[in-house]
Amino acid sequence: MAAPWEDVLRDTPAIREAAAVAVDAALLEGVLMRTEGEPNASDVVNFAPFTLLPSVVPQALFEQAYAVQQDFNLLVDAISQNKEFLERTLASTIKVDDFTARLFRIHMQVLEEGLAQSVFLGINRSDYMFDCGVDGTTALKQIEINTIAASFGGLTSRTVPVHQRVLKVLGKFKEASKLLPNNPSKGLALGIAKAWELYGSPSAVVMFLVEKVQRNIFDQRCVENELWNRNIRVIRRRFRDVFEKGSLGEGRRLYMDGQEVAVVYYREGYVPKNYDQQNWEARLLLERSRAVKCPDIATQLAGTKKVQQELSRPGTLESLLPGRAEAVARIRATFTGLYSLDMGAEGDKIAAMAIADPDRFVLKPQREGGGNNLYGEELRQVLEKIRDSPERTSYILMDKIKPQPALNYLLRAHSPLQVSECISELGIFGVYVRQDKGMVMNRAAGHLLRTKAVEHADGGVAAGVAVLDTPYVV
Ligand code: ADP
Ligand code: MG
Repeated sequence: MAAPWEDVLRDTPAIREAAAVAVDAALLEGVLMRTEGEPNASDVVNFAPFTLLPSVVPQALFEQAYAVQQDFNLLVDAISQNKEFLERTLASTIKVDDFTARLFRIHMQVLEEGLAQSVFLGINRSDYMFDCGVDGTTALKQIEINTIAASFGGLTSRTVPVHQRVLKVLGKFKEASKLLPNNPSKGLALGIAKAWELYGSPSAVVMFLVEKVQRNIFDQRCVENELWNRNIRVIRRRFRDVFEKGSLGEGRRLYMDGQEVAVVYYREGYVPKNYDQQNWEARLLLERSRAVKCPDIATQLAGTKKVQQELSRPGTLESLLPGRAEAVARIRATFTGLYSLDMGAEGDKIAAMAIADPDRFVLKPQREGGGNNLYGEELRQVLEKIRDSPERTSYILMDKIKPQPALNYLLRAHSPLQVSECISELGIFGVYVRQDKGMVMNRAAGHLLRTKAVEHADGGVAAGVAVLDTPYVV
């Protein structure tokens, strides 16, 4: 679908003027990131990369993505409570993938001891692309669902006024008024606040567990601020702090520096490099505690790519969500082809199919954070090397989604202004709270649009490939 500003895309003076306004507006609105050179200081900061113009998103697909979010919340929550499903699904993966295996061991250990936690908080983001068929129709297809440390719910709210300003500078006043308000961090904080309240100790704090490198701190501060606005105390700590100063008291209540912790919100712990032996011990301590973990370790496992692939098998969704045929249908409609590479005849056939036609597929390991997937010739070479080895079971295979590119300008600090062919990925934030067996909150909390140049197969905003965007819904 053509954007209503195609006429100005090649008007260099107008674009230059708009870009200068855009960058200053981004700084004013707080579309911020710390610099690569000084990732842990806020003395000098940059604007977070963003598109000069909003990207067109078809209304039907936008609404479909919102409509299925509560179903995905229910699904993730159901998986997290289904020990047998996780055990069966991850059995082959944990034999070859050490990271997933370690998470899984903690999961089993915690279940064996018995859960001290009775309030559960899920914050996820389901990501999609708009697949373009040969007949030109577009379909909403899920890339993945992130069940831990899903980011940009804060910064994404701040691109809306920036893009409004840009459109006005380009004379597109009517279009500027059509950009939808969006503030996921409010919804995320609402979930955290609900979990904190149900935990039931008014003096307890919310602990953000954060990484060593904190370039994206402003995104997290947006959520923090919403909590402070509700008079909830927030502390920021690392795994190392938990190892050194964390302890469990009566009823396995979690204490940090003498303060009781009601909710642990992970913006950390999703990749192997986040862990050394002490950090694994800290993770175990947190999981054993009564504190509400967002996510608990079972919910983190529910977000693995192996689980995603198993969900696409006929009958799996039905067994996880019994009596919810409509939810199952809405979820299934967003799936593209997903294939298991487990050892055996089925996996052999899939490996051969991918090797014969690598451009049709994406090969994915059990990793998060962008830049890990394999495409094209590299996919073929890697799969040829491991096709007869159990190592192949650490990957899943997925149909490649092919969106229609559109022209835009990607604004990055210290980068020249040039037009690029771009594709976008839409994420919907989901938030839910469960107390024992009863759902207390289940909602969609807002969206995130990220856009990248078509020549990059992989990678998100933090990986330096995609940039923040605002949907122009038509
Ligand atoms: P990660 O956990 O690393 O974010 P993703 O599954 O989200 O892994 O993949 C990373 C990126 O790779 C996505 O943001 C998207 O740009 C691209 N990608 C992933 N799966 C597909 C697919 N099936 N078709 C096209 N691009 C994909
Ligand atoms: Mg992703």
